[in-house]
Amino acid sequence: MPVGRVTLADDARLAASGARRLGEALADARAGVAFTGAGISTESGIPDFRSRDGLWSRYRPRDFSFSRYVASPQVRVEAWRRRRELWSRPPRPNPGHLALAGLERAGRLAGVVTQNVDGLHQAAGSRRVVELHGSSRFVMCIGARPRAGTPAGCGFRAGQDWALARHEAGEADPGCPDCGGLVKSTAVSFGQNLFPGVLDEATRLVRSADLVVAVGSTLRVHPAAGLPAAAARAGVPLAIVNDEPTSLDEVADLVVRGRAGRVLSAAAVLALA
Ligand code: NAD
Repeated sequence: MPVGRVTLADDARLAASGARRLGEALADARAGVAFTGAGISTESGIPDFRSRDGLWSRYRPRDFSFSRYVASPQVRVEAWRRRRELWSRPPRPNPGHLALAGLERAGRLAGVVTQNVDGLHQAAGSRRVVELHGSSRFVMCIGARPRAGTPAGCGFRAGQDWALARHEAGEADPGCPDCGGLVKSTAVSFGQNLFPGVLDEATRLVRSADLVVAVGSTLRVHPAAGLPAAAARAGVPLAIVNDEPTSLDEVADLVVRGRAGRVLSAAAVLALA
């Protein structure tokens, strides 16, 4: 992709020209891969972590750790309360998610590697989605006393609705119906190991890419952020769409500073024209 280096300030005209250049790159792509973070879902009403109004402005990061979840009934009760509150009005995909799904249908993208756990790429129609950090759409038994960030449950697994219905029926911390162990969302917490095979699958997809588009991520959370970094080192063109600087701007071929929904939908219209 002959995109050249363009670093764009937070300016509508420049963002528009960045979207145009992204559209041109996507039009040429045959196996692009989108790498997404929490920022692609803020326009769907899901807060990210590190923005000014992000979750870290309201909660303590350590309360999101696997070991705290296992050790503290209060942390679990609060996790279920928050989850029920969020899903009482289920978030919907926004134009950014929809643009990526359209680009996959049109054969420009081979798939999406996401750090997100919200399922909005699938809801938008993306077919190949590698969820590096699991999914909040499901829950699983993690056993009574799992250690070292590894769930050690009995195999019970259900949709998130199962847990939310139990919560609604009065169980503040729903337990496993099969073995009595702890139940946790299949979203990966801090201090929890990634699910086996997921990083390999994402690495394969990114290695086969002819363009990587990183969207809505600070590109600071590892090992996830290692994927676009490795792609750039291997000479795969890297485009970044984010509303503030990221850790990889220096090595990117194209940086578009703007809102993900607007930039991606404009780029997709151009790429698919
Ligand atoms: P992050 O919160 O560290 O960074 C998000 C980045 O996106 C920030 O740079 C922010 O300025 C930018 N951003 C926010 N809204 C944007 C928009 N509309 N358009 C363009 N840029 C926007 O998120 P991260 O880098 O993905 O890493 C945090 C970890 O937390 C990841 O594992 C992530 O998956 C997880 N997380 C997921 C969700 C979710 O599933 N929706 C929500 C919160 C956190």
